[in-house]
Amino acid sequence: MKDNLSNAKFAIDIGPVPSLPVAASDLRFPVGRIYCVGRNYADHAREMGHDPNREAPFFFMKPANSIAQNNSTLAFPVATKDLHHEIELVVAIGKGGKNIPVEKALEHVFGYGVGLDMTRRDLQGEAKKAGRPWEMGKGFDESAPCTAIRRASEIGDPAKGAIWVKVNGQVKQQGDLSQQIWNVQEQIAYLSNLITLQPGDLIFTGTPSGVGPVNPGDKLEGHVDGVGDLVITYAHQ
Ligand code: MN
Repeated sequence: MKDNLSNAKFAIDIGPVPSLPVAASDLRFPVGRIYCVGRNYADHAREMGHDPNREAPFFFMKPANSIAQNNSTLAFPVATKDLHHEIELVVAIGKGGKNIPVEKALEHVFGYGVGLDMTRRDLQGEAKKAGRPWEMGKGFDESAPCTAIRRASEIGDPAKGAIWVKVNGQVKQQGDLSQQIWNVQEQIAYLSNLITLQPGDLIFTGTPSGVGPVNPGDKLEGHVDGVGDLVITYAHQ
């Protein structure tokens, strides 16, 4: 039997539930957990030194409170000399489930956003080399900027369309959603065989090639056709 915790009084205040706006609405999308897919575009897998044809999808996580809001100026992250941008389509899960079949997977989607999987590449590289977890390279403060979530009932389920990011007006990453090795349905199905998906979960669905450095003062503009535009500026140090 589950305890009823809906009226629990907590010993300390940890602030509001992390959330993103729901587009064309005054509602917000509460962010539960953030799952990220690694190496999901063949050309990016190759640029990271891996064979895209032999790997099942794999996942890592960021904390829910690593979400950062669109049109923000962010402090440059601590502890890195090699911050990288990774522009990604973000899936917002509206209905949880486990062992979800591919053909039912889109029924679990609330909507979509445009996100940046910001990465302290130097820390990630050191962790890889030492056979250690990636979290300190991936799950730091404000490492998951994301746009408002647009409802799938409004925009459909984007399976193709341009995805790109500019740094200071120059295109750095450019690809198409159709280049994903594992599409959204397959990612949901696969992930739901590893964990029980919950409403509020986000899935960052991987990045095309062209990942590269971000410096203090840089302006990042990210785009996914039919989903949205993300603008993030890093403060000067
Ligand atoms: Mn990524």
